[in-house]
Amino acid sequence: MHIILVGPPGAGKGTQAANLVDEFGVPHIATGDIFRSAIKNKTQLGKKAKEYIDQGQLVPDEVTIGIVEERLSEDDCQEGFILDGFPRTVTQADALNDILADLNIKLDTVLNIEVSEEEVVRRLSGRRICSECGASYHLEFNPPQDKNICDKCSGELYQREDDEPETIKERLEVYKEQTEPLINYYKEKGILKSINGEAVPQEVFTRIKQELS
Ligand SMILES: [Zn+2]
Repeated sequence: MHIILVGPPGAGKGTQAANLVDEFGVPHIATGDIFRSAIKNKTQLGKKAKEYIDQGQLVPDEVTIGIVEERLSEDDCQEGFILDGFPRTVTQADALNDILADLNIKLDTVLNIEVSEEEVVRRLSGRRICSECGASYHLEFNPPQDKNICDKCSGELYQREDDEPETIKERLEVYKEQTEPLINYYKEKGILKSINGEAVPQEVFTRIKQELS
């Protein structure tokens, strides 16, 4: 079961990836995590990536692709994986094709979790973080007793700049611009499956399982 997960910020990819890992016993390859781990372990590519990040620059494709390739070459990916956060562009998708061909791995499905812009704004703009202990809340789904104060430590709650409605809309624009060509790319390959992500997580997972069976 080799799956790529795509969806806008706030689509619930993390939750669904965890469900898929439980269901199929395959590793969750989140590119954010493998970056952090490559940097922490000071691998060749990790060191390179860190140089760019420290200078506030985007990590170039060749480094990103190299880090993904290192991770996908590990034994636990032979039986399956949930790839999350990569590829982001058609160029990266082409590179991924080559990597998988070398590893003799066939990509089964690209799962596209669809959520409307209004719903993304509703989900993300409700998030609040504790400035003292880092605990996270959601005004609607996981509300603190007082909307400005942390239940655990009485620290002040704040909204990440990323989660302000205007910034969310900008993030969604970037997502759409980058991802639409990618979605068409996998549609043409006949492996794209789109899931309506506007439901409670358990219902969305039921829809995913239906699509995969
Ligand atoms: Zn707190």
